[in-house]
Amino acid sequence: MTIGRFAPSPTGILHLGNLRTALASWLSARAAGGRWLVRMEDVDGPRCRWDLGEAQLRDLAALGLESDGPVVWQSGRLADYQAALVALHAAGRLYPCACTRKDLQLLASAPHAEDGLRPYPGRCRGRAWERFEQALRLRLPEGAMAWEDRLLGPQTDDPATLTGDPLLFRRDGCFAYHLAVVVDDGAQGITEVVRGADLRPVTATQIRLQEALGLPRPDYAHLGLVVAPDGSRLGKRAGGLGLEALAARGVSSAEVLGWLGWSLGCLERPEACRSEELIQAFDWAGAPKGEVRVPEAWA
Ligand code: GLU
Repeated sequence: MTIGRFAPSPTGILHLGNLRTALASWLSARAAGGRWLVRMEDVDGPRCRWDLGEAQLRDLAALGLESDGPVVWQSGRLADYQAALVALHAAGRLYPCACTRKDLQLLASAPHAEDGLRPYPGRCRGRAWERFEQALRLRLPEGAMAWEDRLLGPQTDDPATLTGDPLLFRRDGCFAYHLAVVVDDGAQGITEVVRGADLRPVTATQIRLQEALGLPRPDYAHLGLVVAPDGSRLGKRAGGLGLEALAARGVSSAEVLGWLGWSLGCLERPEACRSEELIQAFDWAGAPKGEVRVPEAWA
């Protein structure tokens, strides 16, 4: 059975790009007769807020997208992340990292990978284990890895040049994003991950972590980002492109949904609709691969 998910971080409003990812993940699961779950990724630092998470859930509901099971908040799942670290340590896969942000900036001599990612150069790989309460990294195996993207096709990435050994536990005592996302996709039995293309470069690293934890590999689909009418990144302008801001300018949720559905190849024209009306027409083969521009009138 297909189980999809949408996993926002509750650090702001859901803008058109996030909403498009939510809809695509929902449609993909629904078109396969599967289930769709929402997970709040609220462990990544102090910018996460419950009220923002609740507002995100209200916006999803306004589009007719509701989780088929209880919404999982990662802040309630820390024991599982800790257990995963214990297992990885027992398998000899973790090492402590003493690098500061400044050290890493100085070390970043390799050309920066796409999206400004700086691969960790492995400076602390030889450092002896002391205890769990320190920054911890996963020792990645050598070499490139092939994986398949349902939208983009075959991919071959070498995690060493994209992320390097990922940080799994942070010096400030927080579990890091890669660990939480991989442990939860495994625990929730997620079979397909649909998300924005900004996360494509970390996928090989996350697959390596799945392998280290003995978890199955879900299918992946990375959607082109939603960009400004002139093709530039939305940046701060994304804040004005949530349901509430658009409603204040006279654009209804049904119209937003119609535009999102059209942008995913489900409608001939962007016109108001309900989410169920899009299911039958959804097909990865017909979904555009590239970036999508916000309509002039909304920007
Ligand atoms: N929480 C992540 C974000 O909002 C997404 C994680 C994922 O889809 O794998 O950027």
